[in-house]
Amino acid sequence: MQAEVANGSTTVEERVRLFLDEARRQKDLNCFITLFEEKALEQARHVDRKIRAGEATGRLAGLVLAVKDNIVIKDTPTTCGSKILNRFDSPYTATVVERLMAEDAVILGKTNMDEFAMGSSNENSAFGPVKNPHNNQYVPGGSSGGSAVAVAAGLADAALGSDTGGSIRQPASFTGTYGIKPGYGRVSRYGLVAFGSSLDQIGVFASTPAITARVLEVISGHDPRDSTSARVEVPSYSEAITPDMKGMRIGIPGEYFQKGLDPHIEKSVRALINEMEKAGATTVPVSLPMTEYAIAIYYIIATAEASSNLSRFDGVRYGLRADEARDLGDMYARTRSEGFGEEVKRRIMLGTYVLSAGYYDAYYNKAMKVRRLLKESFDAAFGQCDLILSPTTPTTAFKLGEKTDDPLSMYLQDIYTVSANLAGLSAISIPAGKDERGLPFGIQAQAPSFNEQVLFNCAQFIHNLKLI
Ligand code: GLN
Repeated sequence: MQAEVANGSTTVEERVRLFLDEARRQKDLNCFITLFEEKALEQARHVDRKIRAGEATGRLAGLVLAVKDNIVIKDTPTTCGSKILNRFDSPYTATVVERLMAEDAVILGKTNMDEFAMGSSNENSAFGPVKNPHNNQYVPGGSSGGSAVAVAAGLADAALGSDTGGSIRQPASFTGTYGIKPGYGRVSRYGLVAFGSSLDQIGVFASTPAITARVLEVISGHDPRDSTSARVEVPSYSEAITPDMKGMRIGIPGEYFQKGLDPHIEKSVRALINEMEKAGATTVPVSLPMTEYAIAIYYIIATAEASSNLSRFDGVRYGLRADEARDLGDMYARTRSEGFGEEVKRRIMLGTYVLSAGYYDAYYNKAMKVRRLLKESFDAAFGQCDLILSPTTPTTAFKLGEKTDDPLSMYLQDIYTVSANLAGLSAISIPAGKDERGLPFGIQAQAPSFNEQVLFNCAQFIHNLKLI
């Protein structure tokens, strides 16, 4: 795509027009909350002018991207999929977006999402659910469902999402796209609306490992405006990418292949592991005994952090403010009651509960201790292997409405993905096949923090097998 733009057989403006037409044609998918029609065309013409003038262009010149609506862009709306941020325009731009623009990417629009990134189906959006393009009766996964669908339905070359417990990898799995959550600290969170600050990372969706790698290397790297961003050198992932499996040690965690896992997915994952062995990889069984506690720890720590982070939405500084309040306390209560959706309220209450006097030690503190044990079991496993392979999700996509009345079964969606956030690891979902209904599923590769390269190499090997 970039070569075509560079040699003049198409222009960035033409590409943006095609994407905008496509977004209108596939409006029913409900993928975008905001489309930047004029601005995107303007940016495109700017890049086209540079190309025509023979000036040096950025590493993303020619590419058109979508951004999840919890990442801010100056003077444009950010909703986080919530009514409470109604009519909120951001006063500044996130570091990741600055970096994309500095490399000549065009930003097409902001994508739909579960409210404040809480959910696994995109049904918790105040703007309505996103539909799965493989079958519009099914969910696309969440919470970055709009970003996943933007890529899967051909509405953008790549998209940014955020992943607190699986919100990039699970929708990537459900839509047949590549989705990477880099190691904690790899990408600046400046300008990402916080959900669980010790877990949140921004990452990338795209339709090939090479594009995913290219976009990630652009947005990665230390940022003085995020004190948790790491001072670790960023390799040129896209140039170093190789499908070479020789000598690769693949860890297989027994705990990830137990009841609840769709037998079709299990069979495909095992067949893939076989292919990798044939190409020179070796497998080692690894043990991750804390897996059975991962969901419990995640839903204590994530809700605790969310209850604190979301206290800023009180009707004073941002977006919505309820009318007819009797006094200040009443205004807070009415704004939050009207502005937040049901799942967000559930999380705030759970989080407030696990942090409250008398319960703090029993829940929050204990969860933090088990989090440490979980991290240590991954460290031990990575002493024996270079990456850990598993399914990304126990099943393929479910039907719209199927799990909305059962939060626990929704939370169990995250069984294979939350550990990477709790331990700060790098993890990717790689399209690995489709079930008998034609719904895609992914394989997850996890690697130590900041070793994203090994994930891209593994993704390239699987990509070359042309499974979908
Ligand atoms: N599905 C998980 C949740 O609801 C993960 C969300 C995310 O990664 N943002 O919390």
